[in-house]
Amino acid sequence: MSNVDPVEIEKFSQLAHKWWDPHSEFKPLHDINPLRLNYINRHVPLTGKAVLDVGCGGGILSEGMAGLGAQVTGIDLADKALQVARLHLLESNRQVDYRKIAVEALATEQPARYDVVTCLEMLEHVPDPDSIIAACASLVKPDGWVFFSTLNRNPKSYLFAIIGAEYVLNMLPRGTHDYAKFLKPSELAQSCRNARLNVVDLIGMSYNPISKVYALGKDTDVNYMIACRKDSE
Ligand code: SAH
Repeated sequence: MSNVDPVEIEKFSQLAHKWWDPHSEFKPLHDINPLRLNYINRHVPLTGKAVLDVGCGGGILSEGMAGLGAQVTGIDLADKALQVARLHLLESNRQVDYRKIAVEALATEQPARYDVVTCLEMLEHVPDPDSIIAACASLVKPDGWVFFSTLNRNPKSYLFAIIGAEYVLNMLPRGTHDYAKFLKPSELAQSCRNARLNVVDLIGMSYNPISKVYALGKDTDVNYMIACRKDSE
C-alpha cells in the first residue's frame, strides 16, 4: 500500500507523546473537537452507530464519538500515535478499537460495514486523497454518512494556515502543512461525487486570533468540513 507519505507519518509519530496535552501542538484539534463532534452528531445521532475514524491519530475525535455512544474503530498508520491512543483509553474509560491498517486495505476487508466514516484533518497529508475518499465510500453502508475536513487552497488559507499558524502565532510546528496539498471545496465535492457520495452540507471552521475562539459558520476560506451521504445502493 503506497498511498502514504512516510515523512508525514514520522512527523505525527515524533509528536505523539503530546497528543493529549491541550496546550501542545495539538491544541487546535482539542479546541475544534466539540464543534466537529456536535456537527457530526447533528447530522447523524451517533448513539449505537458503527463508526470508523480514518487517520485517528491519538484519538481525540474517536474518543469523543465513543463518548456519544458510538462503537468506534480508529485507524492510522503512525504506530506511536496509536499507542498513545490505546493508553489514553485507560484514563478515559472509553472503548475504541484501534488498528494499524491502511484505509484502502480495510475497504477490501470490510466493505459497507460502517454507518458513519469520519476522516478529519488528514486528506492534506496523503499523496492521493481520491484513493482515501473512494475507500471511505466503500466502507460506509448505503445511505450512511461520511465526513471530511481539510484546508482550502487560496491566498487567504496560505496566509492563515501556513504563515499565521506556523510562523506568526507558532500554533503549529513549521512544515506541518504543505500548501500544494490543500483542497478546494469544489475539488473535494467532485471527488466525493465520483465516489458516489452526495454532498449534503459544507461548513466553514474559522479561528479568530484575537479572541482565540473557533466557530463553525459560512466562512470556508481556510478550514472546512463536508457532510456526505452514500447513495442508497
Ligand atoms: N483525525 C485526527 C488526527 C488528525 S492529524 C483528528 O482530527 O483529531 C492527521 C493524522 O493522519 C495523523 O495521525 C497521521 O498519522 C494520519 N495519517 C497521515 N497519513 C495517513 C495515511 N496515509 N493513512 C492513515 N493515516 C494517516
